[in-house]
Amino acid sequence: MRRVRYGRQITPLSLSLRVSQAEGPPVIKTLLAMLILLGVTISVAGQRTIPPIYVTLWFDTEDYILPQDDDATKRLAEMLTGLGVRATFKIVGEKARVLESRGRRDVIAALKRHDIGYHSNTHSQQPTIAVYLQNAGWEDGRAEFYRREAQGARDVARIFGVTPVAYGQPGSAWAPQAYPALHDMGIGMYLDESDHVGIDDQPFYYGGMLNVFKMRSNLARMDLSGGESLANGKSRFGKSYDQLRKNGGGTISIYYHPSEWVHTEFWDGVNFSRGANPARADWKLPGTRPAAETEQAFADFDQYIRFIKAQPGVRFVTATELMAIYGDAAMTRSFRREDLAAFARSAQKEIAFQRLDGYALSAADVFGLLTDAMAAFIERNEWPSTAKVVPLYGPARVYTPSIGGTRSSSFRWSAFAQAVRDTADFCRTSHRLPDEVWVGAESISPADYLATLAATLEDMIAAGKSPADVIRREGHFTADRYVAEDSPALWGWVIFPEGFHAPRIMELARLQAWTLKPAVFHR
Ligand SMILES: [Zn+2]
Repeated sequence: MRRVRYGRQITPLSLSLRVSQAEGPPVIKTLLAMLILLGVTISVAGQRTIPPIYVTLWFDTEDYILPQDDDATKRLAEMLTGLGVRATFKIVGEKARVLESRGRRDVIAALKRHDIGYHSNTHSQQPTIAVYLQNAGWEDGRAEFYRREAQGARDVARIFGVTPVAYGQPGSAWAPQAYPALHDMGIGMYLDESDHVGIDDQPFYYGGMLNVFKMRSNLARMDLSGGESLANGKSRFGKSYDQLRKNGGGTISIYYHPSEWVHTEFWDGVNFSRGANPARADWKLPGTRPAAETEQAFADFDQYIRFIKAQPGVRFVTATELMAIYGDAAMTRSFRREDLAAFARSAQKEIAFQRLDGYALSAADVFGLLTDAMAAFIERNEWPSTAKVVPLYGPARVYTPSIGGTRSSSFRWSAFAQAVRDTADFCRTSHRLPDEVWVGAESISPADYLATLAATLEDMIAAGKSPADVIRREGHFTADRYVAEDSPALWGWVIFPEGFHAPRIMELARLQAWTLKPAVFHR
C-alpha cells in the first residue's frame, strides 16, 4: 500500500538551494523568493494537517479457567512493551484474584506496564449484567450494578495498584445504569464494542463519560488463524486508515482476548452458554490450540502491530491518553448571552446534540445551561456574565402526562418562573434531568419544557424583560435516533438465556440519549 505524507514532496531546503544558485534580474529573484515563501508555507501547513490516526488496542482479560491464558497474557503484554506499544488490558475481577492465588506476580508485573481497565466481576457467571438489570429502573439499577460489580473493581485496584481507568461489558451485556455506578467507582471511560448506542463509528460522550464503542467500520481485527490472516488484517486496517485520513483523522479500535492465542473455544461458552449455571466443581476446561498455531498467531500479531505502527500519522493510545485527546472542551468553556441565544434557537427546532467549533453540547448540556441562566435572571433580573456546563444524566423514566385538569397552551410568567427555579434546584440536587416539570398542578415533559424555555429565553434576551405569559411549545427530541431498537439480535451473546432481550434497558438507553454528543479530538 502506497501512502504519501502531505507536504514532503517539496522541501524548503531544495528550493532555497536552487534559488541561491539563480542569477538574473531582481524581478525574477523576487518572484523566486515569493515561490520559496509559498513552498515553505505549503510545506509547513501540510505537516501540520497530517490527520492523526489514534489506534487503541485493548484486551478483554477474562479467562479465569484455562491456566495457559496466564502465559498468553504475559507474553502479549511483554511483546507489546518490547515494541514500544501500550495497550489497555480490561481485567475481570475473578481473573485478577485467580492470578493472585496462582502466584502469577510475573503476569501482574507485565500487565502493569499497560493501562489497566475493568471488565466486570465474574463476566459470564449467571445472572450476567443485562439479565439482572432487565427490569431495573435508573436509580435501583445503578445501585444494583454497584453492589454486584464494585468488589471486582476494588480487587483489580488492590492487585494492580491502580484504579481501573476504563470499563467494558461482558459480551453484549450493556446497560446504561452502569455509567453512574462506574463514575462512583472512579472509572472514567467506556471502552468496548457493541451496537446499543454510537455516533458515526467514532468516539462519543454518553452517560457522562467518553465512549469508544460501536466503532464498526473503524473496528479492525486481524484473525489469528494463520494463512491469509496477516494480509487480510493489514488490508482491513488500511481501509479504516484511508477513510479516516480522508475525513481529517480519528480513532481505530482493535480488541482481542489473550485466550484467543491458546484456546479453540471460549472459556465461558463451554460452561455458561444459553443461561447454563454449572457448579464450580463442574466447570470444564476449553480446548487448546496446537503449539505451532499459537506460535504462528504470535508471529502474525507481531507483524500486524509493526505494520500499523509504521503508518504515517498513527499513534497507539491507551484509555488514559484517549481521555486527554478527546477531553470535553465544553466543560471548561464559559458561554455568553449570545451563545445561549444561539443554543436556544437550535433547541426550538430539534433537541439533540449540537456540534460547535472544537466542542459539542449534548441536549442535557443545553437543558442545564438554559435553565441555570433563566434561574439566574429570575433571581437578579440580569443575565449571568458567563455560563458553564454542569454535567447531568438524562431523566429516569419516560414522561407520562399528569391526570386531571386541562392542557394549557400558555402559562403565567410567575408560574413558569417558579417551574424554572424548581427545575434548576432539581438538577443541582439530583445531577440529572427531571422526569417531568411541574407548572402549578400541570406537568410538562422535559422536551416540551426545554422548547418552551428556549423560546422564552430567546425572546427575553431580545426584549430585555420578562413576558406576561409564556407560550407552551412542543419539543422535538431526536437524540435517541442514535440508540438501537431493542431486539433479540441486539442481545445475541451466547451466554444469555435463549430468546433474551431487554426492552426496559433500551428505554432507559433512549432517555440517556439526552447526554449523547460526539467527542472532538484535540491534537
Ligand atoms: Zn469479555
